Amino acid sequence: MSQPAETVAVPTRREIPAELTWDLTPLYAAPAAWEADLARLDDLLAPVLALQGRLDSAAAVARLLDAETALDRVLEKLHTYAHLRHDEDTADDANQAREARIRARYAELAAQCAWITPELLAHPEEEIRAWMEAPELRDSRRTLLKVLRNKPHVLSAAEETLLARGAEVFTASEQTYGLLTNADLAFPDVPGPDGRPLPLTEGTYRAHLENPDRGVRKAAFETLLGGYGKLQNTFASTLSATVKTHVYVAQIRHFPSALEAALFDDQVPTAVYDGLISATHEALPAFHRYLDLRRRALGLPDLDMYDLYAPLVPACAAKVPMAEAREGVLAACAPLGADYGAALRTAFAARWIDWPENKGKRSGAYSSGCYDSPPYLLLNYHDRLDDAFTLAHELGHSLHTWLANRAQPPRMAHYPIFLAEIASTVNELLLTHHLLAQPNEPAFRAHLLNHLCDSFKGTVFRQTMFAEFERDLHRWEEAGTPLTAEFLRGRYYELNRKYYGPGLAAHPAIGHEWCRIPHFYYDFYVYKYATSFCAALVFARRLRAGAGVDAYLGLLRAGGSRDPLDAVAAAGVDLRDAGVLREAFAEFGAVLAELETALAVPEK
Ligand SMILES: [Zn+2]
Repeated sequence: MSQPAETVAVPTRREIPAELTWDLTPLYAAPAAWEADLARLDDLLAPVLALQGRLDSAAAVARLLDAETALDRVLEKLHTYAHLRHDEDTADDANQAREARIRARYAELAAQCAWITPELLAHPEEEIRAWMEAPELRDSRRTLLKVLRNKPHVLSAAEETLLARGAEVFTASEQTYGLLTNADLAFPDVPGPDGRPLPLTEGTYRAHLENPDRGVRKAAFETLLGGYGKLQNTFASTLSATVKTHVYVAQIRHFPSALEAALFDDQVPTAVYDGLISATHEALPAFHRYLDLRRRALGLPDLDMYDLYAPLVPACAAKVPMAEAREGVLAACAPLGADYGAALRTAFAARWIDWPENKGKRSGAYSSGCYDSPPYLLLNYHDRLDDAFTLAHELGHSLHTWLANRAQPPRMAHYPIFLAEIASTVNELLLTHHLLAQPNEPAFRAHLLNHLCDSFKGTVFRQTMFAEFERDLHRWEEAGTPLTAEFLRGRYYELNRKYYGPGLAAHPAIGHEWCRIPHFYYDFYVYKYATSFCAALVFARRLRAGAGVDAYLGLLRAGGSRDPLDAVAAAGVDLRDAGVLREAFAEFGAVLAELETALAVPEK
């Protein structure tokens, strides 16, 4: 097999011009300064430990939480520098050593501070409420509120110790699942378009499903899912044990159901979860219309599960150099106002971004920083259109962090996962619409519209289907239904039929797909992808119309200072109201209509 051209000429870290790398000097001017800060940790820990057993007044609690915050800020700064240096060149010995040292220190300090929450919790509710009103605890109010909320769900010290000591037992089946899928499970090669064998792994599977040759797609689909199917009893056992653990822990912590336990931290009512599922059901006819358009555009008599990722429009070859991507994002985000634009310019000018790939650099892309650093971006930029979307996405995260850190005290700045993907998706959507508004080749326009429909397919329809299956899994377990392989296969198959509709020839092997979805082990996580995407779609639509800019920036600045549903609702998008989801699905219908026009494929 030939290497892609890009990997042949990957430069070393030293060969990258400084202006294309991130500037980490706002964190530490040199490694020696990092060492000096590391040496201060014991001095910062001392005042925390001095207060153990002495939380007898609001003033004492304030001293404790302030001391803990001071320690955390330095610790996070040390960790941020170490992990960014590590990721810029993972093969560098000094980088590896620095990262390992701070990780060990982190674990040590976490153990040394583990008494804080139980000691706060041991106080009567009225006392915690009184602390919340104390002016010296104003910036720690949310920390105390969370302690208070958790009180009814925390067990006695002896019971908590037993649970903590059993933690590894509770996660054993998830570990087994991880080892089985990442290390032990292997698949035979599949024949390529020219008959030569292609290696099949989870890593190459998606590329095979995007192969224009239908035979390759079908073989990859049948071989991979067939491989999972052969181990279906083992997978039913690992999944069932994980679901049992969620249900067990929810019961002993006095939650009415596993779903309620999982939604508790974000204070999301189960009605929002159920509402997402029913709103998605209502929108299925539009989704089926999209699938039929896909069938016609591919020129197929019928569409099957292995045709869902085949490219509708010939591969987009548009090159987007860094400078063009930068200007594109700036122009696309213009609806967010001058201050947002100025912050974006700072991101570029102050070198928050590590752009190109180099030998040993961590793959992929992320946004990462701490309260006392810029929110840095790691990219592996290769001038593809997708890379420009990644830049817009990660800048969405970084600017969210930047605005929240500047507006909130340290304990209220960090936003929950529930909100995280809104800012990133809004920026991607703004970039899509900015590009659509340019004079374009018809094929490029169709590519952009289809990109949006596919994001909807993958992030809303597919994730909500997972969310429904996950909800049912826990309900079956709560009702005492054994989660056997045959039962799961049958139910999962029916669910696919419902979502993909009568127009899709649902290959029986899709019934095994539940075996390969790691998210079913994550305790009700995937629905957040769908709700964030819908919220982002509504925000982006309003922002493009020039409405709600201040409210949206207010949401970003709110960070973690409010419960996520309240924060989004304050910005005008109330996810408790089914109307918001309908507005998002209406947008899908509108984009789909444009795609139908752009592709102009005949009926039948
Ligand atoms: Zn993201």
